[in-house]
Amino acid sequence: MLKFRNTLSGKIEEFRPMREGEVSMYYCGPTVWDYGHIGNFRSALNADILRRYLKFKGFKVTHVMNITDVEDRIIAKSQEAGLTIDDYTAKYIDALWEDFDALGCERPEIVPRATRHVPEMVALIERLMASNHAYKSDGSIYYRIASFPDYGKLSKINFAGNIAGASDRIDTDRYEKEDARDFALWKESPSPGETGWDAPIGRGRPGWHIECSAMSMKYLGETFDIHAGGIDLVFPHHENEIAQSEGATGKQFVRYWIHFEHLKVEGETMSKSKGNYYTFRDVAAKGFSPAAVRYFLLSVPYNKQINFTFDALAGAEKTVAGLKDFRARLTEAKTSSGNNAALEATTAQAAQEFEAGMDDDLNTSVALAAIHNLTRDVNTAITSKKLLEDNKLQLLELLKRFDSVLNIFGEERHEMLDTEIQNLIDERQEARRRRDFARADELRDELAGLGIILEDTKDGVRWKRK
Ligand SMILES: [Zn+2]
Repeated sequence: MLKFRNTLSGKIEEFRPMREGEVSMYYCGPTVWDYGHIGNFRSALNADILRRYLKFKGFKVTHVMNITDVEDRIIAKSQEAGLTIDDYTAKYIDALWEDFDALGCERPEIVPRATRHVPEMVALIERLMASNHAYKSDGSIYYRIASFPDYGKLSKINFAGNIAGASDRIDTDRYEKEDARDFALWKESPSPGETGWDAPIGRGRPGWHIECSAMSMKYLGETFDIHAGGIDLVFPHHENEIAQSEGATGKQFVRYWIHFEHLKVEGETMSKSKGNYYTFRDVAAKGFSPAAVRYFLLSVPYNKQINFTFDALAGAEKTVAGLKDFRARLTEAKTSSGNNAALEATTAQAAQEFEAGMDDDLNTSVALAAIHNLTRDVNTAITSKKLLEDNKLQLLELLKRFDSVLNIFGEERHEMLDTEIQNLIDERQEARRRRDFARADELRDELAGLGIILEDTKDGVRWKRK
C-alpha cells in the first residue's frame, strides 16, 4: 500500500488518486535566471523518483513542471545583458535540460512556461477580483488574505494577531496594501520600456504565486492529486497557491502535498557568499559522474536533510561503479539451465523489500539496502556456481524493474559479439567489391561508432576494439 506524508494533514496517508489508475501531479520547477544548483537538482530528482515510482505501481502519470521565466531577477539580468527575456532565459533553459538528462531524470509530460500563460493568469486574477479576494491599489493587484479564513492551513503558521495595524503598514511596506500579509498578484509596469503585458486589468507582470495556480489548474484541473516541491516553498508560495486557487474555485485545490527536504553542504546552508554554492556543472567539472550525483542525492530519503560532501560523492562514485560491475558480471555469467529455488526466494525477497521501502513514503534508503543485499548474495552465488539460467533471467528482469524507478545501473551497454562485428566487416568488403564506396564508408563509420578500429592489410581486414 503506497503511503505519503501529506503536508496538509501532517500525517502519513494512503495514496488514492481521484481517478483510478491515473495520477495528476504538479511540481514547482526552476526559475531560469542562472544555472541550477545541486539543491534544485535534489528536488527535481525527488520529483523524478516520485513520478517513476507511481508508474512502477501501474499508474498513468501526468506530471506538469513549470518553468518560471519571468520574475524580478530575470527582468533585471536580461536588461543588464541588453537581451529580451526569451533570449536571456534560452541559455538557462537549454542548460536545465542538459543537466536534467545527464542526471537521468525523465522529462515531465507538460512543461509550461510562465511567459506563455499570462492570459490564464489574468483570467484567474479577474476571477479573484470579482469574488472580492483581490483588490487593486496603486495600479498593482493584491490578494486579500483576510478574505480566506483557511490561510495558514498548509504551513500551520498561526496568523491570529499577526495582522499588521495601520501604523505598521506604513513602516513595513512601501506598497498600499490593506494588510501587510497581502501579496501581489499583478505588478504594475506602466511605462512601455518596462517588462509587462497589456491586459484588461492594466499593463503589468504577474507575481510568482499566481503562475503556479493558473498553470497547474489549466493542465490538471481545479482539483488534482499531488503537488510537490522543495520544503522552502510551503510558506508563502504554496500557502498562497491554495489561497488563490481555492479562493477562485471554492474547491479543494490539491489532495496530497509532498515537500522535499533541504540539501546542506558540509553541514551548512548553501549560499554564494559562503563559497559553498555548487551548480551541477561545478560538480561535474570536478570529475564526478552524473550517475554518482544521482545516486548520492537519492541515497537519503526525500523527507530527510542531506549533507553534501565531496567525500560522500566519492563514495557514491564507487558504489555506482560496483552496481555497474555487478550487472555486467551477472549478464556475462555462464550458467547451466535450471532454477535454484533458494536464489529465487532471495530474489523475490529483494523485490518485496524494495517495494515495501518505496511504498513507505518513498524510503529510498530501504530500497537501496534491498538492492545491496541482493547483489552481495548473487555475487556469492555466481562465485560458487549456484546461479542457474532461470535465476539469471529473473535477476536481470528485476534489475530493470529497480532501475525503472532509481535509474542507477545506467544504460545497458550492448557488447557486440565477434560474429556480429565480422558480419559488418564482410558486408563492407562486399560493398567495396561492388564499388559502392558510400556504403562501405557508412559501415566503417558504424563500426567506428561501436569502438571497432579497422586495419586494411595485404592479408585482408583486421580489426580490434578501441
Ligand atoms: Zn510553484
